[in-house]
Amino acid sequence: MLDDDMDYPVRATDLKQFVYCPRVYFYQVCLPKVRPVTFKMEEGARAGKSEVGKEERRSLRAYGIAAGEREFDVPLRSRRLGVRGELDMVITVAGTGEVIPVDYKLSKIAGIHFQMQVAVYGMMLEEMRGVRVTRGFLYEIPLKRAEEVQMDMALRIKAEKAVKEMRAIFDAERMPPPVRNVAKCVACEFRRFCNDVV
Ligand code: SF4
Repeated sequence: MLDDDMDYPVRATDLKQFVYCPRVYFYQVCLPKVRPVTFKMEEGARAGKSEVGKEERRSLRAYGIAAGEREFDVPLRSRRLGVRGELDMVITVAGTGEVIPVDYKLSKIAGIHFQMQVAVYGMMLEEMRGVRVTRGFLYEIPLKRAEEVQMDMALRIKAEKAVKEMRAIFDAERMPPPVRNVAKCVACEFRRFCNDVV
């Protein structure tokens, strides 16, 4: 049985907001009532679920893997990182036993925030299953393409640092400074709360 979510305050999916601007993450977790669930957010969740049915009919060739077992919607936790999440798919490769996290995305670009998410899922798998994860995949739904993400040290450090900062914001309910690239503020749904930038 899994512990209470409060033992794992950071959600892996929130990395996207944090990388865009740490303050967006703050608003989301510390002032959740000010943020509406947008159509885009709901659409992302729906697309991930509908992809499961298609994935079950697809072969593992898209991942360059001949045979393996697939698990879907796998709940993951890391006590060390204080992070939780639900991973779209885990592949266990036949023969080698290699464990590979796969995250479905509506995006056509495997941006760094998505790669960091895969790394966090990989680290959670390592902690829960006692394995070493060396790579993962981002499955870009619009392109029907699986992009490999190497879980190298640089990506692990970057992802772990971000999770620690997210946890510190959550624990202290401390509003971080505004984003350096103020061009991001123009399209930001929280603009009206950031009187110090725009
Ligand atoms: S308006 Fe700018 S600083 Fe404020 S949350 Fe949005 S991106 Fe961050």
